Amino acid sequence: MIAHEAATPAAEHGAAPTEAAFRAVYGAAPAGIWAAPGRVNLIGEHTDYNDGFVMPLALPHTTIAAVTPRTDGVLRLHSGNAEGGIVELHTDTLRPAPMDTAAGSRAAPDGRWAAYPAGVVWAMREAGLPVGGADLHVDSTVPTGAGLSSSAALEVVTALALNDLYALGLTPQRLAQLAQRAENAFVGVPCGIMDQTAAACCTAGHALFLDTRDLRSRQVPFDVAAQGLRLLVVDTRVKHDLGDGAYAERRTGCERGARALGVPALRDVPHAQLADALVALTDTPDAPDTRALVRHIVTENHRVEEVVAHLDAGDIRAIGPLLTAGHASLRDDFAISCAELDLAVDTALAAGAVGARMTGGGFGGSAIVLVDEAAADTVSAAVTAAFAAAGHAAPRIFTAVPGPGARRLA
Ligand code: ADP
Ligand code: MG
Repeated sequence: MIAHEAATPAAEHGAAPTEAAFRAVYGAAPAGIWAAPGRVNLIGEHTDYNDGFVMPLALPHTTIAAVTPRTDGVLRLHSGNAEGGIVELHTDTLRPAPMDTAAGSRAAPDGRWAAYPAGVVWAMREAGLPVGGADLHVDSTVPTGAGLSSSAALEVVTALALNDLYALGLTPQRLAQLAQRAENAFVGVPCGIMDQTAAACCTAGHALFLDTRDLRSRQVPFDVAAQGLRLLVVDTRVKHDLGDGAYAERRTGCERGARALGVPALRDVPHAQLADALVALTDTPDAPDTRALVRHIVTENHRVEEVVAHLDAGDIRAIGPLLTAGHASLRDDFAISCAELDLAVDTALAAGAVGARMTGGGFGGSAIVLVDEAAADTVSAAVTAAFAAAGHAAPRIFTAVPGPGARRLA
């Protein structure tokens, strides 16, 4: 059996099933239907909270929301992907109730998922926007907790629906900021701006080159198929629990490094001055990793710029070694890989991949593999076989074709 799935039909399920589900849940037709995608980050990992560069692309996997506004301030939330039925809240009584970030959102009890869309309503109202109640039903094909940003897809699809229903006239970038505010302050997850921007702003056939300092962005053509290549996503289906505390540690370590170097953020350390910066930094027993963290961020920002240069020159194959170097940096300097991610990357490269790296926060989730079209099945089969031989659960492997960002479907 071939382990590789194409961008599965299941990735794109269209508006009709969600419309039907909304009718079944609420007994009437929705006012509209919206979609927002999951994403993979091509390069630029953990740079977004260092004012640096990122380069996500939207997946065909989407979260679809059917929504109707309400005039009584009631907020009813329902998900085809969550247990527990309708969650009923009121816009006047929404209060941030950050979940225990050490436990992480994956430990969310039934109904806790509703904090993501409720947080968007809260963030919009907190910003003084005239948003009232709503009935909402979502269905998603974005795997949750796989590092593919199902949380941002859920937030952004909610934000876009409310933007249209309440005629707010907000830009995609502003919707992304409100969605991030919801996740940071209402849900309590200290994520950067990348995931929400990807869900809101990506376009089909492109990766989004985003400067997270000033939020300027540029769509960079990324038509892998036209160059005889494929971008595979390997969802390892594991998430190691140390992830969230380790994220906070990395973030604090980067801030410590920037302070020690006297710059606002590590983004401000030019690649050409990395060696000097590393000489200027001293690791201490209570902060043993500052130099390595700084080295990752500075080299990673540089890799993003190199990737953009290759893509602008029309040479996708040339980014392979940069992806692989990015993995080594995340594994060795940032120390956020894990056995499954390393196995996926090492096996893919040994089987002939052009480049491979872990993507997302780390300690599990997904890897991306750039591979010749002709070698895609061999590489997929090799990764699946290596996981079986190591006693890991079977990975889910699919092709990432850069899809559109958030949009209205009906
Ligand atoms: P990721 O964003 O990488 O998928 P997170 O831990 O940030 O992982 O977000 C996953 C959480 O988002 C889930 O545990 C759930 O609470 C929520 N979520 C995302 N999509 C949905 C959905 N369609 N229905 C219900 N909850 C969802
Ligand atoms: Mg998330």
